[in-house]
Amino acid sequence: MRYSESKDRSAELLRLALGQMGKHEAAFNPISFTLWYEYVGGINPALTAAIDESLKEGKGIDDPAVIALYKKYIAPADEALMAHISGEMERLLASVAQSASHTGSKAGNFGDQLNGLNRALASRDVEQLKPRLTEVMAGTAEMKSSVEALQQKVSISQEEISKLRSDLDRATSEALLCPMTGILNRRGFEKKIESLLSQETADGNSHCLVMLDIDHFKRVNDTHGHLMGDRVLQAVGEILRTSVKNDNHSAARYGGEEFALLLPQTSLDQSIELAEVVRNRTKAIKIRDRTTQEVLSTVTISGGVTAVKPNDDAASLISRADEALYAAKNGGRDRVVSHA
Ligand code: GH3
Ligand code: MG
Ligand code: MG
Repeated sequence: MRYSESKDRSAELLRLALGQMGKHEAAFNPISFTLWYEYVGGINPALTAAIDESLKEGKGIDDPAVIALYKKYIAPADEALMAHISGEMERLLASVAQSASHTGSKAGNFGDQLNGLNRALASRDVEQLKPRLTEVMAGTAEMKSSVEALQQKVSISQEEISKLRSDLDRATSEALLCPMTGILNRRGFEKKIESLLSQETADGNSHCLVMLDIDHFKRVNDTHGHLMGDRVLQAVGEILRTSVKNDNHSAARYGGEEFALLLPQTSLDQSIELAEVVRNRTKAIKIRDRTTQEVLSTVTISGGVTAVKPNDDAASLISRADEALYAAKNGGRDRVVSHA
């Protein structure tokens, strides 16, 4: 679940969120409440950073801002796209059903006509035979065109359905990606860590997790602005994405300026080596003055590495990697520490 706060803590957050809502122009609705709840609870660093930036620029949080922030930082998948896909599915199915029932009723008439012809044949009533035959011939032509129309409709619908399905696949996988960096987001990370924990290790191998956190990132924002901060996050995301060479390995933005590498079937030493590659490549990021191109500062990152142990779950694994990361920060940052 997204919210794990206790009743007491959530009551405190409710009070703080209401306080914030009172200060801003936006209406008191569940969307603005969600936004401020996540903000005061500090449970959505990207949202917090975006709100802080707006406030710093003296912008109030009004109704359009609430909607924009909600859509960007809280709404899970692209809801507009989901609504479009399900609307299209409904429209298609209704149109095929309508054609099928039209063809069905035509088939009913045609059956009646065939029975009439049959009766005329049985009674050997030559007078009756001619009009019945004419009727059946017309019925056959009508039936043929109705079935053809249905066939055409079904085949168009099949094409549209497969296009909708690929839209849906895309929307589903996009929902697991961080739009800013293009690597997995927190939800993508959670899915991958579950799949990593469910895998058997091949002989002599282990599964490892690397947690990485940019050093003094707050300073980057404070000194060079939030937009430059975002650019640094994109550059680090790109470094992670391109440092991962093995198809089984994944890179994720865990939240804010924290990143992770999920490395199934990989030894602790290999994982440390990969974390060192990321650390060294990060050191090469240069923040330059936009006009003079003068290098204003550089960026470092710290990492914590650990391997899966027999009774680990996601929480115990992450917390061990976090301990190693914490040791790296305490040891002076710009280093990788492992926790066996
Ligand atoms: P440390 O070396 O101990 O990790 O220090 P730090 O400054 O990196 O850590 P801290 O947790 O104090 O600050 C993290 C900052 O990251 C605060 C927050 O505003 C910023 N941040 C989080 N998400 C984003 C984002 O999406 N964009 C930008 N520009 N900043 C973000
Ligand atoms: Mg951090
Ligand atoms: Mg940091």
